[in-house]
Amino acid sequence: MTASRTATSWFVSDMVKITTDMWLKGWDERNGGNISFRLHDRDVEPYLAEWREPRVLPLSDPLPDLAGQYFLVTGSGKYFRNIQLDPEANLGVIRVLPGGNAIEVSWGYSDGGVPTSELSAHLKSHRERRRAACGDRGAIVHCHATNLIALSYVLQFSTENVTRALWEGSTECLVVFPEGIGTMEWMVPGTTSIGDATAEKMKKHPLVLWQFHGVFGSGRTLDEAFGLIDTAEKSAEILVRLIAMGDARHTISTQNLLALAKHFNVTPLASAMALDGWQMAGVSAPTVRGLRRRA
Ligand code: 13P
Ligand code: ZN
Repeated sequence: MTASRTATSWFVSDMVKITTDMWLKGWDERNGGNISFRLHDRDVEPYLAEWREPRVLPLSDPLPDLAGQYFLVTGSGKYFRNIQLDPEANLGVIRVLPGGNAIEVSWGYSDGGVPTSELSAHLKSHRERRRAACGDRGAIVHCHATNLIALSYVLQFSTENVTRALWEGSTECLVVFPEGIGTMEWMVPGTTSIGDATAEKMKKHPLVLWQFHGVFGSGRTLDEAFGLIDTAEKSAEILVRLIAMGDARHTISTQNLLALAKHFNVTPLASAMALDGWQMAGVSAPTVRGLRRRA
């Protein structure tokens, strides 16, 4: 069977690139992770003629304010490493139907598949990020980034503390995500409650960390969302190494962070700036930066 024109569109090509990169990064074992990308009407217009006989699927939670919008979404249970081999089976374009009670599958999931089980978190996050930052297009990316997950087991798990740790783990972090990373205590995945909680965090933060599970990142493009997660994950990797080496001996100071914010003209999350470093779980303040500062 020849591939449809949609399978070679710029948006499917971008999705193939990001999912392949993420697989190679080791962030998406088995079917771990899922991605959605909101499409403009003008993006889909050239392909509408080949999208016939859409399948209708109910939405567990009505989303009337997203009615009429198109999203390119990874399929549930699909392996990121296979997306490059068969985009049409592993990806789909969905449209939220009038009233917001159902979606139609306009293209893809060619083996009878359905969109990701985290669709609630994706669609509700799109709604919030569109208001907050993303504008007309927008990407939401979920993956199982190894070091960010590892940190969720050892850091005192608050938005302020994890944000502060990541900012200190690598100089570029405060500039790339001044709004910080929102933290969410462990919840059952694939539920409307985790979707609601994620979207609530996305009102303020472009990144959300699901404890013991993974991360959600957002951006105007797939590249931007990928770059955001990549930056946070790099910092997390450095922090994991520091902790394994017995913790940092010195670090980026509050003064340094203030200087960065001034030079790059960003407004950092005030509650994370107000901390004096970061702390491990179970280490009481102000023994910040764990063991080292106690001396
Ligand atoms: P899906 O295969 O349904 O996208 O689920 C993967 C996942 O990472 C759940 O959080
Ligand atoms: Zn997951």
